Amino acid sequence: MQQNYFESMDTFMKVQCYGKNSKKANDVAQNYIKKIESIFSVTNENSEIYKVNNATSFPIKISTETSDLIKFSLEMAEKTSGAFNPCLYPVTSLWGFTKKNYKVPSAQEIQNALLLTDYHKVRLEKNEITLEKGMMLDLGGIAKGYAANEAAKILESFGIKSALLDLGGNIQTIGKKADGSSWHIGIRNPFGDGVFAFLEVSKSIAVVTSAGYERFFEDENGKKYIHIFDAKTGMPVDNEVVSATAVAKNGTYCDALSTSLFVMGIEKATEFWRKYKDFDFIIVTKNKKVYVTSGIKTMFNKINENWTVYYL
Ligand code: AMP
Ligand code: MG
Repeated sequence: MQQNYFESMDTFMKVQCYGKNSKKANDVAQNYIKKIESIFSVTNENSEIYKVNNATSFPIKISTETSDLIKFSLEMAEKTSGAFNPCLYPVTSLWGFTKKNYKVPSAQEIQNALLLTDYHKVRLEKNEITLEKGMMLDLGGIAKGYAANEAAKILESFGIKSALLDLGGNIQTIGKKADGSSWHIGIRNPFGDGVFAFLEVSKSIAVVTSAGYERFFEDENGKKYIHIFDAKTGMPVDNEVVSATAVAKNGTYCDALSTSLFVMGIEKATEFWRKYKDFDFIIVTKNKKVYVTSGIKTMFNKINENWTVYYL
């Protein structure tokens, strides 16, 4: 077994893999994740996204990886009717989430920033992108899932049949545990320490959680502002959801979904799930209700007995 711990994308990561080639595979996967970080960071001046966001003339050349991820992000924006929006940098930076210089902006500042977030205006060719003046990308809602998904592919290319990737709560598995038993993937308690449930998984799958507890700030009155935004209002989401977990084979899809489901709220998220049924979710609301979709019912195990679980 080879276990690598490292810091990347502003979070702690752990990749555990088993079998022949584990060390080599794990090192290559780790380097790949660091490379992804250096491409997609909005603050690193050498990153591709930074260059796109600060370009003075367009079109600008981008790598195939970046192009593919932006393309997928735009498709997710379309599919979720803008709940997922990869063009929110003007809003997330205005609130100080990109550089940790948090502040509550004025209504006028928010309106001005919102004008720059229309994802329909992104022009993407194979290896070239054009943004309108002032528009800027923020792929923070999808980059970790993408990194996990691609890193898992790398491990598989080395013949790895059993692995667990945990990129700051973005979980991706390959196969079963080395001893043939299933993985127990904890779902963090959004109200405190530890986990409130776990998924028993014995196949390659991604489990990605979006939650307010991950990153937030409070104003002088103690009001909390989280890092997930409603792209329609330019405000941090403040609905009934406290955590949204998406489960599916594709980790990139799950990451975009977890953010989207959080923004949608339980009703719209349920509607969306009924329409597509190509993923599952666990949504926890502020009043400690837990909603679990049918595809993962048999994998879902509750630890905290006080909460009511609704199976959809
Ligand atoms: P996640 O933890 O995957 O939900 O991603 C949250 C991050 O995605 C934030 O820190 C922002 O960088 C970015 N983000 C915030 N709101 C949205 C949104 N509505 N759509 C897409 N990305 C977002
Ligand atoms: Mg996400």
